Amino acid sequence: KCRYNIKHFYEVYDDEEEKIQRREMEIIHDMHTAIDKKQFTVFLQPKVNLYNEKACGAEALVRWIHPKKGMIPPNIFIPVFEKNGFIADLDYYMWEQVCILLRKWIDEGKKINPVSVNVSRISLYNPNLVHKLLKLINKYGIAPQYLHLEITESAYMTNPSMMLMIIEDLHKAGFTILMDDFGSGYSSLNALKDFPIDMLKIDMNFLPRGSMVERSRIIISSVIHMAKRLGIKVIMEGVETQEQRDFLRDLQCDYIQGYFYSKPIPVTEYEDKYINLMDF
Ligand code: C2E
Ligand code: MG
Ligand code: MG
Ligand code: MG
Repeated sequence: KCRYNIKHFYEVYDDEEEKIQRREMEIIHDMHTAIDKKQFTVFLQPKVNLYNEKACGAEALVRWIHPKKGMIPPNIFIPVFEKNGFIADLDYYMWEQVCILLRKWIDEGKKINPVSVNVSRISLYNPNLVHKLLKLINKYGIAPQYLHLEITESAYMTNPSMMLMIIEDLHKAGFTILMDDFGSGYSSLNALKDFPIDMLKIDMNFLPRGSMVERSRIIISSVIHMAKRLGIKVIMEGVETQEQRDFLRDLQCDYIQGYFYSKPIPVTEYEDKYINLMDF
């Protein structure tokens, strides 16, 4: 006799499907007003320089504070926004919020470090990208080296030849380019070979865990070694333990980011902890 109750399985599956679809429709319904109602917020996660253990910048990560549902995590709504194109509006909103923040810190006489923003595939292939970014930083009087751009590895291969031109244009404009989630896709090495990026962020799934520790170590150390020979800086994401930190420091990884130092935190908390008055 069959061990699974097929009928029951489909009913459960239908229920799940329906729930996901309903949630997606609610997200689409609510997203249009969410920007105007200021429901999207910037959280900042510090990046730490492993040579001196000092915070050397941050990544801006979006949080949706929904009036009825509370905080919705990005992995719920970003995929929906990527499907319906709204991600371009959200990306632009986040970039502007970061520029406003950098301007505020400069006006307050604070010493500023670069903040990186995430650039989705749709924003990336918009022919106006460089123009939009330049207009934005000029509006707030921010030098391009303070806005780092995180581009997820999989976005590079959608249209490699166009991508190469986009990166060249971004470089000419003075922006720093970081390949996010390195190693998570199917053409990581091709992407590394073909695109003159400035920094590589190794996907957190490569961190030593469980029984595959030795394999993880070998892969991470090889990637760091390779990047160094290519003149590319390396940052490791998702560092949670002291062992992982020590291991990366031994390998001379340049920067790390992760819960070991700090979770992504609200701007005010970041300011209290990491933004110091410029010393005269
Ligand atoms: P990502 O850019 O690769 O960001 C890293 C994710 O890992 C963040 O999740 C961060 O909170 C999480 N993280 C950081 N340190 C640790 C750690 O030590 N352990 C673990 N387990 N996780 C850690 P988050 O904030 O939920 O964002 C998820 C993804 O959503 C991001 O991945 C990025 O792809 C996307 N995203 C977030 N904000 C934006 C945005 O403003 N625009 C776009 N286009 N995408 C965004
Ligand atoms: Mg990122
Ligand atoms: Mg990442
Ligand atoms: Mg990631």
